[in-house]
Amino acid sequence: MKKSFPLRHFGETIISWYHRNKRDLPWRGTKDPYKIWLSEIILQQTRVEQGTAYYHRFTETYPDVLSLASAKEDAVLKLWQGLGYYSRARNLLFAAKQIKNDFGGKFPSAYEDIRSLKGVGDYTAAAIASFAFSLPHAVVDGNVYRFLSRYFGIKTPINSTAGKKEFAELAQQLLHDHPPGDFNQALMEFGAQQCKPSSPLCDSCPLQSSCYAYKNKAVAELPVKDKKIKIRKRYFHYLIIKEDKHFYIRRREEKDIWTGLHDFPLIESEAKLSESELLSSDDWKQTFQKTKAVLKNVSEEYKHVLSHQHIYARFFEVHVSKPIQKDLAASWKR
Ligand code: SF4
Repeated sequence: MKKSFPLRHFGETIISWYHRNKRDLPWRGTKDPYKIWLSEIILQQTRVEQGTAYYHRFTETYPDVLSLASAKEDAVLKLWQGLGYYSRARNLLFAAKQIKNDFGGKFPSAYEDIRSLKGVGDYTAAAIASFAFSLPHAVVDGNVYRFLSRYFGIKTPINSTAGKKEFAELAQQLLHDHPPGDFNQALMEFGAQQCKPSSPLCDSCPLQSSCYAYKNKAVAELPVKDKKIKIRKRYFHYLIIKEDKHFYIRRREEKDIWTGLHDFPLIESEAKLSESELLSSDDWKQTFQKTKAVLKNVSEEYKHVLSHQHIYARFFEVHVSKPIQKDLAASWKR
């Protein structure tokens, strides 16, 4: 580890900075593991500004873990609507049931038990264990990677296995002897507010004189990331099938994005299909084999960006005179 500043002083400096500068967030100050867990799951892929309203909605609708455990999946997904990454909401519900069935309805207080909850990884388990139960487990989120990488001059890619291990060990070493909840929140908040991704506030930084990146003019180069992950391109040809005054929707049952949500029947391909290619495809023929289908309108293409895939979607309005094929219709709603 590249130490240029006594470790104890590092922790004391950021904790003191934290008490002067922390944002007043609704889940701060609580020791309730249920509320801390909710806030952490909501904030996993969501900015604080957007997540706060959802946090209030969830804690008002489901004030404790048992009320969440009794909720219907559709109701939880509806409350989650707009946040994306819906597997987080399904995992919340699953984990609430785990707590009800395996832990007698009481939120577990041991790290390994917290880590065993569905959707709870190393980071979230450490956050809950330290914030709610003062257990000495260091947290490393994106803000922490950036801050530690710059301050200590660590060039190991933060998205590599070696990098994850190195940063986790360093954070754990730094935590030593400090109140775990305060230290972890200080580390994360310092990264979020002071050592920001672009234009960090180096001029007012209490760690400036011992910061590697500042001294070596390397702020913009750190942290280092391995080359980007491969993005999968998917082409969705949505069918808005109208029969009289009805149209068809279906629930996504397959293990894929948006499981459990509803969308239109869909023909997917590895490449963009022209209208004639779509109309002569096996999927199209199979879908409309029992009725005459007339293509009325085609939308422009919409691009939807997810972390590992880009979706290119077009919508095809199709009119039919009779219900479409029986076995397909069974899984689709009109
Ligand atoms: S001096 Fe700048 S780069 Fe270094 S820790 Fe402070 S804010 Fe981050």
